[in-house]
Amino acid sequence: MKKVYIDAGHGGLTATGYYSTAPNWRPGKPETWRKMFVHDHWPFFEGQFNRIIAEKLARKLESNFEVIKVYDAVLDTPLDDRCQATQNDGVLISIHANAAPSHLQGKVNGLETFHFKGSTKGNKLARCIHDNVAYQTKARNRGVKEGNLQMLRETRCPAALIECGFFDNKEEAIRLLDDDYQNRIVSGIAKGIHQYFN
Ligand SMILES: [Zn+2]
Repeated sequence: MKKVYIDAGHGGLTATGYYSTAPNWRPGKPETWRKMFVHDHWPFFEGQFNRIIAEKLARKLESNFEVIKVYDAVLDTPLDDRCQATQNDGVLISIHANAAPSHLQGKVNGLETFHFKGSTKGNKLARCIHDNVAYQTKARNRGVKEGNLQMLRETRCPAALIECGFFDNKEEAIRLLDDDYQNRIVSGIAKGIHQYFN
């Protein structure tokens, strides 16, 4: 079976129970973040959303692929460890949600997918995934882009990183938290991975 490595992107809990990257809104004291991260879907923590998609994707792919999760259920795995967990025998998909720079917050939406600069296989993977997710979700299409991110550069297999939408845009955040919309994203990613290997 071909291998699919799944990464749940930014955000998780540190060893001391603090959320590792800033959500757009975090009420209360840091002690409450752990509870919110594990149990609630609002306020929007990127790491939480990423894990929902990653888990759904793993379930969808596991009958056709060997699925390897390079993330922890709640802890924020160091990027080096995630890259080290890959071999040159499959593909990696890294799942993210986006945030706009502060002067554009709430004004931007849509879907974009990255691959490592100059990687032909990465480009093919990113295109397959992106086009299918764009078709399934009808989200604003921001295109396939080149990036020099560690998860794209240092994995041992072709890799794509999808930004599923902007969680600082209220309308898009509400869609991203909708179960049916999440299933469309997952179905697009899965179709894209099948297409890549066919
Ligand atoms: Zn991210």
